[in-house]
Amino acid sequence: MLNKFFGHFSHDLGIDLGTANTLVYVRGTGLVINEPSVVAVNTKTKQILEIGDAAKKMVGRTPANIVASRPLVDGVVSDFEVTEQMLKYFIHKVHKETFSFLPRPRVVIGLPSGVTEVERKAVEDAAKNAGARQALLIEEPMAAAIGARLPVQEAAGSMIVDIGGGTTEVAVISLGGIVAARSLRIAGDELNEDIIQFARDEYNLLLGERTAEDIKIAIGSAYPLEEKLEAIMRGRDLVTGLPKAISIDSDQIRQAIQKSVNAIVEAVKMTVEETPPELVADIMDKGIYLAGGGALLRGLDKMLSLSTKMPVHVADDPLTSVVRGCGLVLEDIDSLKEVLVSTDYEKSPK
Ligand code: ADP
Ligand code: MG
Repeated sequence: MLNKFFGHFSHDLGIDLGTANTLVYVRGTGLVINEPSVVAVNTKTKQILEIGDAAKKMVGRTPANIVASRPLVDGVVSDFEVTEQMLKYFIHKVHKETFSFLPRPRVVIGLPSGVTEVERKAVEDAAKNAGARQALLIEEPMAAAIGARLPVQEAAGSMIVDIGGGTTEVAVISLGGIVAARSLRIAGDELNEDIIQFARDEYNLLLGERTAEDIKIAIGSAYPLEEKLEAIMRGRDLVTGLPKAISIDSDQIRQAIQKSVNAIVEAVKMTVEETPPELVADIMDKGIYLAGGGALLRGLDKMLSLSTKMPVHVADDPLTSVVRGCGLVLEDIDSLKEVLVSTDYEKSPK
């Protein structure tokens, strides 16, 4: 009875367990957490030292026995125990900040579509161990499409490309299900790696991962820009071992990341080729939607549009599409339950 009453105020959660960032949405409140999916672990004692923002600050700055690990880095649950700790940390953080006497939360979690049955079960168990009363899973591209307000339940094709840190997920959705999909492990992280490689090959310059990412965000592009941008790369000279700064421009960075960008473009084209013609016609009409942080790469929409001959739109606030999609599912779970991949809801709708 009391449970039923407080159920209205229950702090049910939507969680985007991304390879780069974890976002948490609280039903009725909105986005409350947006932190990197990073965990700092002491390899000697196996102890977890920091999670999220605090752990990311340690990346590249830790002594040898402390590693900043990204448990989901390939878009799969590669390190289950650490993932569980991370989920626990985020769920408890919300629980502490809201009323902890409320019933335990129902949680909707967005996961990469490539995860295996075993990994799904592992995440469900992790969420329950972390205090969830019910853990419902949704495939990330489905959540991204819902977050981008695409009509996923209609008998019409919608296409979403979610470019995260570790994975790019391409999906065509119709009638609440994924009709054609592709997942590749080339996304934002790979572009950073390309920039590191470029600096090493061209200038004997060793760049940190953060620096490479900053350069990508500052001047990176997939398609030639109207006005060239410039930046300074700071790193260590591989020959002298001393600090070195090199000035570079957006054309150079575009060339450095071109191969990876092309791989993403190819994946989109191949998914279009596998899509039934009626749905392709719908997509031509509405356009392809881009979500995830990678959608913010300059000119990627233009590049994709030229190579697929379809209109391409960047979703509003693409970094939060997945978590907002999870949130929309929470708000209206009865009518959206068909989009979930877990059967937990059917078993116990409360
Ligand atoms: P995930 O869902 O895997 O956690 P996100 O959707 O949070 O990933 O996106 C993170 C990726 O987006 C990172 O590789 C980051 O470098 C990239 N990113 C963020 N902002 C930009 C930007 N303005 N331009 C290009 N890439 C960006
Ligand atoms: Mg994501």
